[in-house]
Amino acid sequence: MSQTLQAVRGMNDILPDEAEIWETFEDIVRDWLKSYGYRPLRTPIVEPTPLFRRAIGEFTDIVEKEMYSFEDALNGEKLTLRPEGTAGCARAAIQHNLVASGGPQRLYYHGPVFRHERPQKGRYRQFHQIGAEALGFAGPDIDAELVIMCARLWERLGLADIRLELNSLGSAAERASHRAALVSYFEKHRERLDEDSLRRLRANPLRILDTKNPAMRELVEAAPKLADHLGDESRAHFEAVQGLLREAGIPFRVNHRLVRGLDYYNRTVIEWVTGRLGAQGTVCAGGRYDGLVEQLGGKPMPAAGFAMGVERVLALWRESGETEYTGSWTPDIYVAYLGERAQRLAFHAAETMRDTGLDVLLHCGGGSFKSQMKKADHSGAPLALVIGDDEAAAGEVSIKPLRGGGQRRVPLAALADAVVDMLYGEDAEDNDEDGGQGVSNGGI
Ligand code: ATP
Ligand code: MG
Repeated sequence: MSQTLQAVRGMNDILPDEAEIWETFEDIVRDWLKSYGYRPLRTPIVEPTPLFRRAIGEFTDIVEKEMYSFEDALNGEKLTLRPEGTAGCARAAIQHNLVASGGPQRLYYHGPVFRHERPQKGRYRQFHQIGAEALGFAGPDIDAELVIMCARLWERLGLADIRLELNSLGSAAERASHRAALVSYFEKHRERLDEDSLRRLRANPLRILDTKNPAMRELVEAAPKLADHLGDESRAHFEAVQGLLREAGIPFRVNHRLVRGLDYYNRTVIEWVTGRLGAQGTVCAGGRYDGLVEQLGGKPMPAAGFAMGVERVLALWRESGETEYTGSWTPDIYVAYLGERAQRLAFHAAETMRDTGLDVLLHCGGGSFKSQMKKADHSGAPLALVIGDDEAAAGEVSIKPLRGGGQRRVPLAALADAVVDMLYGEDAEDNDEDGGQGVSNGGI
């Protein structure tokens, strides 16, 4: 016998019970993004490798060791599975001239991203990000709005214990002056640098501050602070963001070591961090990236955004007990039938009920009434529609409650109304509040 195949390590199947929770979450997130004026942008999962090298930066964890890159077997083009979403959004905005032709754009994306990391809880090789990108906005107002909208989402999801960390990375010139100070500081302590940091010392010393090596903590803690190199404009921008957040009642901590693992950021950078998920505690991160579009060959364009790790947000949502009303689809009614005439009626009846908005499971695979009723019971449906020869001959159907109550027999034309009555009571249709969508299961 051949060996059974498994999913690629670090890449997960999301099974139906779990995927239903994802869909509920995605519905909430779509509504939330829409309420802030963000519009969807869907870009390819594969992009030319140089896009990420240029956007994210050569001396970053992602580009140095985490990208799934390969050559197109047919034409040798160098391609990469996207390790994040911002570069693709910026590329698409430039390619289609989105901002020049339509003014500033609020965009969002949602989908899988790929990084070759060591798989562990909260860290996968295929994971999912939802990101918002505001292109063409220069002021601190959009930075604040991006933060405020996240705070509102956490509230909407009932997530507790997410704290906000902020920093300002200043402008390119300010970072250059800070960088000079950093290089001379780390040069002085060369013997305490690990291999990664030694390599980054010349190329990108700011990255050293982003180290995850606990042995270097003290050294990094005492390093020169970027805050001491910020000019008036950067300082004012950062102050304004903080002012708007205070106004909105959103607590935050300024963390001078927050530099983010990607090169494209400047000025405001943010991370939302929780202590409830163990080591992988950052659920959402982002900031301003005014230089990115120009770096990719577009006209200079200020921009800011964030990306959240869907797996981590969902883990927190589950942990907070707020997902208990979601998942596990059950039909409103299970349709059982016996015989050829009854089959025609059953298919017809099922579609009639679906037209009214009901969720209908039509029995497939034949078998006796007894075995069909067992399946009906197993489906969790509160009702079964039963169509035998008798009913078929009369053009009628029987509705049988599976959790107690009397059976009813009605003509096909009266079926949908009768089912709604039996599910929700006589007044159901008058009190229907979901905007004429017909019947819903309730819940969120
Ligand atoms: P980390 O420091 O945890 O490696 P990062 O700085 O590399 O995160 P970003 O590039 O900012 O992460 O990505 C945004 C979000 O995506 C993170 O805050 C996190 O929630 C999530 N994320 C990043 N890498 C992974 C991964 N390998 N598996 C699952 N989620 C991830
Ligand atoms: Mg990372």
